[in-house]
Amino acid sequence: MGKKRNTLPTVAYFCMEFGLHESFPIYSGGLGILAGDILKEAKAGGYPMVGVGILWRQGYTSQRIDERGYPYDSYYEQRYDFLEDTGVVVRVRVRGRLIKCKVWKCTQFDNAPLYLLDANLPENEDRLITGQLYGWFSEERIAQEMILGIGGVRALQALNLPVSIYHFNDSHPVFAGVELIREMMDEEGLSFEEAWAKAKAKIIFTTHTPVKAGNEEHDHELLRYMGAYNGLTFGQMLRLGGEPFSMTVAGLRLARKANAVAQLHGETARRMWGDVPGTARIIAITNGVFRGTWQDERLAKAFARKEGLWAPHQQAKRELIAEIYRRNGVRLDEEVLTIGFARRVAPYKRGNLIFSKPEVIGEYLEKGRLQLVFAGKAHPNDLAGKEIITELYRMTKRYPQSVVFLEDYDMQLGRILTRGCDVWLNNPRRPQEASGTSGMKAAMNGVLNFSVLDGWWPEGCVHGVNGWQIGDGYEGKDQDAHDRDALYRVLRSEVIPTYYEDRDKWVAMMAASIEMAQQQFSTARMLKEYFAELYR
Ligand SMILES: *Cc1c(COP(=O)(O)O)cnc(C)c1O
Repeated sequence: MGKKRNTLPTVAYFCMEFGLHESFPIYSGGLGILAGDILKEAKAGGYPMVGVGILWRQGYTSQRIDERGYPYDSYYEQRYDFLEDTGVVVRVRVRGRLIKCKVWKCTQFDNAPLYLLDANLPENEDRLITGQLYGWFSEERIAQEMILGIGGVRALQALNLPVSIYHFNDSHPVFAGVELIREMMDEEGLSFEEAWAKAKAKIIFTTHTPVKAGNEEHDHELLRYMGAYNGLTFGQMLRLGGEPFSMTVAGLRLARKANAVAQLHGETARRMWGDVPGTARIIAITNGVFRGTWQDERLAKAFARKEGLWAPHQQAKRELIAEIYRRNGVRLDEEVLTIGFARRVAPYKRGNLIFSKPEVIGEYLEKGRLQLVFAGKAHPNDLAGKEIITELYRMTKRYPQSVVFLEDYDMQLGRILTRGCDVWLNNPRRPQEASGTSGMKAAMNGVLNFSVLDGWWPEGCVHGVNGWQIGDGYEGKDQDAHDRDALYRVLRSEVIPTYYEDRDKWVAMMAASIEMAQQQFSTARMLKEYFAELYR
């Protein structure tokens, strides 16, 4: 299908996780799904790109809730029998031991080739390095990052793939930069300075984390012990990442150009990192989603032919309701306004904000005016996130006919929810949501966004026309109370009355939402900008 684009640079896109399909659980959430969508768009648009990642043998956590409402985690041995064996094996020295990694190739999901490193070989003592995605910290995390970065560069060479751009999606792959430098020093006899400058000309970095504490840092002693110095000296590593070694600073210093993932996030990221000496200029390229994966075909067709949108929407809503019944035994009502909230359960996303005044929201839930559908996993070590899940679980017991929580959020649930709900709620504590992409999926399906002005939404929102804003972008003291009151106000005075009393306006808003999402928030627009503004 793809057009030939011979004059474009060949890009190797490195990421810790890739979300291509629910049957291939080597992803955790937004970061990986973005990477998966990019590889699908690269294939569809004929862009010269390959992905580099890790074959997680036990995937990411499968998270369920016990009878008291506490989430618990399980990992399962996965079988990936659709992968192609490239025959290539690379070696990375970790903790003084050589780890052999097999390189697999995946083209199963209409994606540009994805090469995956796998340490699960009988001859390795440390077979589980590539076991669990984000399962471990500290030593094991560094080991995983060494396999991805150092192993990834070696794999591309062993495969004889000519690469002109190395794109690090978030900071996990930065040791690939250390490997490129070491190699030029060893093989071309360059000085550290010369090699760094030459590597920099080929490296692009994307930052995803406005939460400063969420940016990974490693102790130099530990890096040296693990072998992550990879032949460089303490002084050289210090110049790349500072002390402690900041993975984000290293990414920004290794790269010739960097990007944030929405316009507002660009401002936040420049405020955070702009003054750090030696870092790349951070531009903003807003994320997008791949239509082929996320847009309901029936709805897309109706929209393109200017036919009614309500019937295909209700069809998707009935499918959601059937899936909820199948999983939870609760039968929701297709005539009742249904709000969805599904995302990684992290405290800053405030999944429980809508319940912060039970007397306000309870009335709608009890009188059959509103249904709430939640889904999401907390990171296995995030106890505050897990408490939020427990609170949501309690709400499902308090309002058993109108509140549901779906366990084990994955791409399949994401797809069903972002088609079948009426409204998509998003209330992170601004400005901590870098982009957020589930709202783009919803918008593309005429599921109306109801969101604070964070992430991508300030760029898309026309209040009352294609969705609604919650609050006015306020940041500061009493932000939670401010946003909660705004949420209730807009819900009561605009969302609920429009749904029940002005169906024509609702459907017009759905059309405006689809138009906005198709124009502005697809990976087609995004990749065009990557090639025009980052890679050239
Ligand atoms: C789209 C998606 C995400 C990312 O959505 P956010 O809005 O960034 O939270 C995470 N998980 C799944 C399963 C998704 O489909």
